Amino acid sequence: MFEFTIDATSEAARAGTLVLPHGAVATPCFMPVGTQGTVRALSPNDLRAVGATLLLANSYHLHVRPGEDTVAQLGRLHRFMAWDRPLLTDSGGFQVFSLERFRRVSEQGVEFQSHVDGSRRSLSPERATEIQWALGADVAMAFDHVVPGGADEATARDAMERTMRWLERCAKRHEELRRSGDQADGHAASDRPSACPPDRQTLWPILQGGTHLDLRTEGVRRILDLGDWTGLAIGGLSVGEPKAAQLAVLETLEPRLPPARPRYLMGVGFPEDLVAAVERGVDLFDCVAPTRNGRNGSAFTPDGPLNIRNAEHRADPRPLDATCDCETCVTFSRGYLRHLFVADELLGLRLLSLHNVRFLIRLAQAMRAATASGGFARWADEWRRRYIQPGTT
Ligand SMILES: [Zn+2]
Repeated sequence: MFEFTIDATSEAARAGTLVLPHGAVATPCFMPVGTQGTVRALSPNDLRAVGATLLLANSYHLHVRPGEDTVAQLGRLHRFMAWDRPLLTDSGGFQVFSLERFRRVSEQGVEFQSHVDGSRRSLSPERATEIQWALGADVAMAFDHVVPGGADEATARDAMERTMRWLERCAKRHEELRRSGDQADGHAASDRPSACPPDRQTLWPILQGGTHLDLRTEGVRRILDLGDWTGLAIGGLSVGEPKAAQLAVLETLEPRLPPARPRYLMGVGFPEDLVAAVERGVDLFDCVAPTRNGRNGSAFTPDGPLNIRNAEHRADPRPLDATCDCETCVTFSRGYLRHLFVADELLGLRLLSLHNVRFLIRLAQAMRAATASGGFARWADEWRRRYIQPGTT
């Protein structure tokens, strides 16, 4: 069921296929982020057209609004958002620890104030597991304690230890739910996107430890001692730490992670970061960057990012990216796209979001091909030479 097969091995980079209940996911894979059960400005048809195979949705947001019970009543998350391919839900740990407003951490869990209506709420490892079970994604994530990128060793140790204890509680609750099966609410079969049969949902641990390499090393060993996970996430990176520190963590972990299990680097998504992480053995990514930047008029291109609002594009008949096969690039000129942004037209937001997601999916596909051919290092050098302009690092 949760196979992860290695097609080829070259340097540190790999190309595998993760088989989930709603389909196979070729890696490396970029996951578009549908925080609230929707990838902003893009429909499921758009996402299928750009080749998305795995989407991320967020338990915290769906718990606060509309509530996991409502989603379950409407057929669970796949049917609710009309997505028939694999889905992964984040546990809500990252969101809760990112909230500025009221927050209290205890061994039991976290108390916080809803960003929607200010109501007091709490999340625990058990609740986060139950919410994700009700949502019914293919992959659920363990509830973790996230600390800022600059956290000192004592703070990072404390959060990592708590995350370990919480992982055991998540795994215990997930196993109870699996054993109880789905008889209680037996959803009807349908030809529309259906829920993941919950006894087939898998739970992945999240490794914390900040930028402290000894904590990361110890953490991964202890996580692997706790179970034979079908995948493993690296959390607590891309949260303000220096880029070199992030790469050092990935280099330290690379030889210590099981080769036949996907490695998911959470919250990373700029093109240059994907390439650097795949070089260090990472398989899965998620980030809001392609859609958020797209809505701001920033487009990824093989020659680096481009701001479509700039006056130089006013009468430019060329596509955004001549190498790209997305609807935006095969249909519209840079001049027209600039006009949409200058005139505040909604279509512009959709078209740049669509292109940016397609750019990262094509980048992942190119990395997979380069890995399979055994020439990843050379491919990465050439890609960087073109994408990262001299002097901008
Ligand atoms: Zn495009």
